[in-house]
Amino acid sequence: MKQAELTGQSSRLKMMGVALMLLALTAAAGWGIYAAPAPVVDRMLEADLRKNAMRMSRQVESHLNDLEQTFRFHALTDHDQEFLELLPETTDIYRFKLFDASGQVFWSTRASDVGFVNTKPYFQSIVAAGGLFYKHEEKPVTEVESFVVDNSRDTELSSRHVAEVYTPIIKDATFMGAIEFYSDITDLRNLFITRVRLSLALLSGVALLALTTVILIVHRTNRRQVRDLRKRAQKERELMDEQLRLAREVRLLGELNEWLQSSRSLDELFDMVSRFMTHILPEAEGSVYVYSNSRDVLDGCASWNGGTHKSHIHPEGCWGLRRGRTYEFGASEIDFVCEHAEPHDGRPYFCFPILAHGETVGLLHLRALEGREDCFNKSRKLAQLCAEQISMAIANARMRDQLHDQSVRDPLTGLFNRRHMTETLRKSISRSHQTGAALSLIAVDVDHFKKFNDTHGHDVGDMVLRAVGAALEQGCDRDEVACRIGGEEFMLILPDNSPEDAVTRAEQLRQAVEAVTVRYGEKALPRITISVGAAHYPAHGTMPQDLMRVADDALYVAKDKGRNQVHVASGTRNQTKNAPPEHRQPPKDAA
Ligand code: GH3
Ligand code: MG
Ligand code: MG
Repeated sequence: MKQAELTGQSSRLKMMGVALMLLALTAAAGWGIYAAPAPVVDRMLEADLRKNAMRMSRQVESHLNDLEQTFRFHALTDHDQEFLELLPETTDIYRFKLFDASGQVFWSTRASDVGFVNTKPYFQSIVAAGGLFYKHEEKPVTEVESFVVDNSRDTELSSRHVAEVYTPIIKDATFMGAIEFYSDITDLRNLFITRVRLSLALLSGVALLALTTVILIVHRTNRRQVRDLRKRAQKERELMDEQLRLAREVRLLGELNEWLQSSRSLDELFDMVSRFMTHILPEAEGSVYVYSNSRDVLDGCASWNGGTHKSHIHPEGCWGLRRGRTYEFGASEIDFVCEHAEPHDGRPYFCFPILAHGETVGLLHLRALEGREDCFNKSRKLAQLCAEQISMAIANARMRDQLHDQSVRDPLTGLFNRRHMTETLRKSISRSHQTGAALSLIAVDVDHFKKFNDTHGHDVGDMVLRAVGAALEQGCDRDEVACRIGGEEFMLILPDNSPEDAVTRAEQLRQAVEAVTVRYGEKALPRITISVGAAHYPAHGTMPQDLMRVADDALYVAKDKGRNQVHVASGTRNQTKNAPPEHRQPPKDAA
């Protein structure tokens, strides 16, 4: 079960607990409101009635003509009688009796009581001792009715609350007698109880409302705090994920950089780029294009993650290359699709121009995979970093290639140099030694070149050397290597060429050079001819130097024979044979 669901359930349980507690409190308050008022009201009434009885007692004492005579001899004047009879009508007292010191009733609002003697212990122990005695009783209405003045009231009640108060009459520290006051307190008591209940209900209501409000406020505050905490935790989780993602990207970029720097060729480099980009940006398909040497088109070099690349694209067809900065399709309301991105289905894509030492050398094209557009749009920064890494690696690879070229190529003709030729020849000999394949070596020297140079100038001589170099290179097949070994001397390594094939190839080369027309300004320069010597492995040597010397020797035989011809070394080392009659050319003046 998820954390959020658990927390939600616990919150609901808490709320149910609080609701139950409030319910219990309401029930307790209800019970309190019902039960508590009666005793409280009774106590209040008692205090009130005691005070009232004392007051009434003093009133009786002060109105009687002669208190001592009255209580000792039961003597009452007419005025006394009249006052006593009026008293219940002007007060709350319904009935009262006058007792003498022995407890005998000598006057009562109910005549039948006269003569009755109160023998109850409280009369002598409390009242005779000067104390006030209070008694509250619930009596059947039938008993009460007899002394209630208004019989029509509360007839439906089965019982009535009656209070009796005995007040002592003391004169000169002598107990003269007592007065008993009867009060029907039912209505007053009920009124008080109702009022107290209402007050309690009001107070309880206010208290419950206050409690509920406090609980709600606390609950809301808690919920807000929990929400804040949850939000903070979520933010921290996202931050952590982001940091982990960044750490992974930095690691992959570092690895990409390391691998790219160790690549030995551009092909290897693009292979690495394909593999890494699939991992670093799994939400994107991609391709890489690099400017061709002619710089009019870009060649497709690699693609990955389901992407494809065209063999060539035009720089004008890419908005990234045209504007010289990253182009982000899908970032603004109005976008134009690059030509190389066609056919296009509307998915967002990036075009990053690849720069090396300030020069644009290629293009990195990334397009979102279907359904991964959101993720793709967030990866722009990372993609930019990748493009920079790839740019740097291409720049390095190019510089390495250039340095390597410089070390193996002749700057004037672009052909390989002597060092490279010697190395290649050694490898070719080794290969032929292992496989038994044929191998021929051809030496070439331009005829009368000194004279040509002297006549037309060194610069023109250079032009001629370049033209001869180009003709020789064009005459080479895939595995064959043409080199300028110095001055106007060249050599060609022809693997898999038997001696017979080599003669034919040498003759073809001679004719190719002879057919070259070099123009200098408006005028065409005189025809150039070459003399050619050929040697074979292993017949003429098993070491590069030996083969080169034999080919050179054969070349000088050709020179001796009049130049512009092919001479093949014959037999074994240091033995040469004239070229077959059909290859011989009559001696000519080349310059
Ligand atoms: P041969 O037919 O016997 O080979 O006569 P040649 O004049 O070609 O032979 P030689 O070795 O006497 O002359 C070679 C000349 O090539 C000498 C030099 O002026 C010229 N040369 C060597 N290197 C260069 C170069 O790089 N550029 C130019 N323009 N000339 C060069
Ligand atoms: Mg020479
Ligand atoms: Mg020469």
